[in-house]
Amino acid sequence: MHLQFAGCGDAFGSGGRFNTCFHWVGRNINALIDCGATSLVSLNKLAINRNAIDIIFISHFHADHIGGLPFFILEATHVLKRERPLTLVGPPGLKARYFELMEAAFPGTKALELRFPLTLHELDLGRRNAIGAIQVTPFHVVHDDRAGPCLGFRFEADGKIIGFSGDTEWTDALIQIGRGADLFICEAYMRDRPVKGHMVLTALERRLGQIRPKRLILTHMSTDMLARRGELAYETAEDGMIVEI
Ligand SMILES: [Zn+2]
Ligand SMILES: [Zn+2]
Repeated sequence: MHLQFAGCGDAFGSGGRFNTCFHWVGRNINALIDCGATSLVSLNKLAINRNAIDIIFISHFHADHIGGLPFFILEATHVLKRERPLTLVGPPGLKARYFELMEAAFPGTKALELRFPLTLHELDLGRRNAIGAIQVTPFHVVHDDRAGPCLGFRFEADGKIIGFSGDTEWTDALIQIGRGADLFICEAYMRDRPVKGHMVLTALERRLGQIRPKRLILTHMSTDMLARRGELAYETAEDGMIVEI
């Protein structure tokens, strides 16, 4: 299976990067992990077939992680004439947030008649949820729960494990999310100056021995982090980058 970073940027387009969106493809998997405001542009740029995507996981309700949904849904309905079912998966509250978001982005679309079956699946926290061929365990992380509960994910599929921190400052939940994972994607907004709700790399470094992922890729970097990438001993994401898992 593979995962492509359709977007690995922060909320502000730092470094010209697109908002968070990862495209995950496996034998029976075609999913997005987050769908930030710019994601339809990046999916188009990478020529990713939106009609083949079955599932979209949403980590939390900030626009750089969910803001692309109205564009995705409208394109699916009006342009791509989608018929394939689509499942949106996210934190408790997803159903209400989805309709609020649609209505705010394109007034009148709350009642939009879709051509395809749409399922809104609110996750049970702290336990495995079965979503198609994927088992996902969502963990509550420490970000800004006005946009939450904000989640990190531990995905299991085809004998592989992918951990994704979501947006968060250090929390011990990250040990469970990333422990021994084939791929652990962790936000690293700052290098060494802590900011509330986001990861400072020094905090992650102190606990890496407890997480021991097989591969770690840093994402969601600020301009400060991007400028210092050359100093890092870690792999960092790039838009368009494909990772074999
Ligand atoms: Zn973010
Ligand atoms: Zn956020």
